[in-house]
Amino acid sequence: MNNAQDTIVAIASAPGAGGVGIVRLSGPVAQAIAKNICTCTLTPRHAHYVRFLDEERRVIDDGIALSFPAPASFTGEDVVELQAHGSPVVLQQLVARACALGARMARPGEFSERAFLNHKLDLAQAEAIADLIAAADTRAARAARRSLDGVFSTRVDGIGQSLLALRVHVEAAIDFADESIDTLGGEQVRARLADTRDSLAGLIADAERGRKLRDGMHAVIVGPPNAGKSSLLNALAGSERAIVTDVAGTTRDTLRETIRLDGLELHLVDTAGLRDGGDAIEREGMRRARAELTRADVALAVVDARDPDAGRSAIADSIAGVPTVLWIHNKADLLTDVPADDHASVHVSAATGAGLARLHERLRALAGEPAAAGGEGEFSARARHVEALHRASLHAASAAEQLRYEHLELAAEELRLAHDALGEITGRLSADDMLGHIFSTFCIGK
Ligand code: GDP
Repeated sequence: MNNAQDTIVAIASAPGAGGVGIVRLSGPVAQAIAKNICTCTLTPRHAHYVRFLDEERRVIDDGIALSFPAPASFTGEDVVELQAHGSPVVLQQLVARACALGARMARPGEFSERAFLNHKLDLAQAEAIADLIAAADTRAARAARRSLDGVFSTRVDGIGQSLLALRVHVEAAIDFADESIDTLGGEQVRARLADTRDSLAGLIADAERGRKLRDGMHAVIVGPPNAGKSSLLNALAGSERAIVTDVAGTTRDTLRETIRLDGLELHLVDTAGLRDGGDAIEREGMRRARAELTRADVALAVVDARDPDAGRSAIADSIAGVPTVLWIHNKADLLTDVPADDHASVHVSAATGAGLARLHERLRALAGEPAAAGGEGEFSARARHVEALHRASLHAASAAEQLRYEHLELAAEELRLAHDALGEITGRLSADDMLGHIFSTFCIGK
C-alpha cells in the first residue's frame, strides 16, 4: 500500500533545549544511516549506549540508539530513534548527518501518515495522536488516549459492519426483484436497520461530547453592567481546574478573558459594550463581542438576584439566537430568602462562593459529561467525524424510507452512502473492500 521509498528524518522531541532530544528516522535506509552514525551495530528493540559520529568520525554527542525493524514499528517501516542531549544544535547536526546519508526532512505529520498508509492506525486514531498531544486537560487527554486505542473506531466499524450486511442483503434482493422483499427476509432487514440507526444515534451523541471535549464548548458570560460577570469569572477561574489566559485586546475590548473549565471554554462578554455609537476602538470591541455571541454554544447570563427580571430584559436581545442559556442569579448573599434553582437558572454568590459547586455541576452537564461517573468509554472526536456521522444517519433514515416502499435500488444506494460516510471517519473502507466482502460472504447457494 505504501509506496514511499524515501527515508524521512525529523526531531521528534519538542522544539527548544531540553534534557533529552530525539531524532527519529523511518524508511528503507534508516538502519544503514544508523550504522554509519552510531559506534555499534543495533540489535532490534535493544537500548544501546553509543556515540553519534559526524562524517569525519568526530563525536557529535553520546546517547541511546534504538532500532525497530519493519513491520513492528510505529510507521510499519524500519524506524531508528537516536536519543541525544536535548540541544537544538546537536539535534540539527544529527538531522543534517542523516540527510547527508540519504534521508530527507519529514513533512509535518508524515510519520503518522505512513503509519496510516501501512495500516498501523486508522485515520481517527492518527487524528487522536494530534489531539492527545494538544489536550488541554486530563479529561481531554484521557479521551484522546481512548480514541487512539480505537474505542471510537471500533464503534464506527461495528456500525459499518451492520450497514455492510444490510447492503449485501438488499443488493441480493434486487436480483430477485420478482419476489416481494418480505419473502427475502425483509422484516429482518428492517429490524436490523432500525437497530443500526439506534446505534448510530448513540454514537453521534457520544462523538458530539467528544468533539466538545476536544474543541471546548464555546460559552459566553454575558450580563448587564455590575451584575458580577468579572467576579464570577474570577471565582470560577480560582478553582483548581481552570486555566486563565488573558486575551490580548484594548482596554475597552469587551472580551477580556478566556478560561477553560471542565472542557468548557468560557469567554467573558460585557453586554454594557453592546450599545450604539462609541468610538472606533469601542466599536471594534462590540464587533468582537457580537462575534463571540454568534459563535456561542451556551450563554451564561448573569443577572443581579435582587432584580433578575430587569437583568433578563436588559440582555434578552443580546442572547437571542444562542442555542442554550443558563441564567445565573448572582449576589444571592444579598437575599434574605434564596429561591430554589430550576432547570434553567442557578443562584450563586461570586463573593462568598455559595452555589458555585452547583454551577460547576451545571457546567459539566452542559459540557456533556455522562451521568455515569468517571466517563469510562468517553473518547475524543472532531467536527469532521460528527459531520460524517450525521450524514450517515440521514442516509440510513432515507434507506429506511425507501425500504418501506420496497424501492430496493434506492435503499441500496442510501445504504452505500451511509456506509461511505462512516468509511471517511476511519479511512478504512474502500470500494474494493466492499466488493471483496460481498463476494466472500455472500453466497446465494448457486
Ligand atoms: P461586572 O460589571 O458584571 O463584571 O461586575 P463586577 O464583577 O465588576 O461586580 C460588580 C460589583 O458587584 C462589584 O462591586 C462586586 O464586588 C460586586 N459583586 C459581584 N459579585 C457579587 C456577589 O456575589 N455578592 C455581592 N454582595 N457583591 C458582588
